[in-house]
Amino acid sequence: MLSATCHCGAIHVEIPRRPKQITNCNCSICRRLGTLLAYYKVRTVKVQGHPEHTDEYIQGDRTLRVVRCRICGCTTHWEPLDSERHTRLGVNIRNFDPEVIGNVRIRLLDGASTWKSFFWDDPK
Ligand SMILES: [Zn+2]
Repeated sequence: MLSATCHCGAIHVEIPRRPKQITNCNCSICRRLGTLLAYYKVRTVKVQGHPEHTDEYIQGDRTLRVVRCRICGCTTHWEPLDSERHTRLGVNIRNFDPEVIGNVRIRLLDGASTWKSFFWDDPK
């Protein structure tokens, strides 16, 4: 287990293991929030302080909620509205101590249009 908090400490997030890669997505919400996401099965991630200290944002096709701390505003994760049908959630790795996460590759996801992804150092 690796753990992190939002800036004020009201929300505590635990993930089961270091991510193999983290995703920098350019979709309309991710680019605004500046999140770097790692994906896990919903049941493997623990979030304390949610929902009592969180606000949420539900957009578009209403499949997921983006969750942020109500006090400090830091985005902690997104989670599916229906966790029976959708089993993954996305954790904002920005909240974790960089030394805990270590040197992880950043995958660039074109969530704005093609949904293709690549790494900066991919051969052209
Ligand atoms: Zn907070």
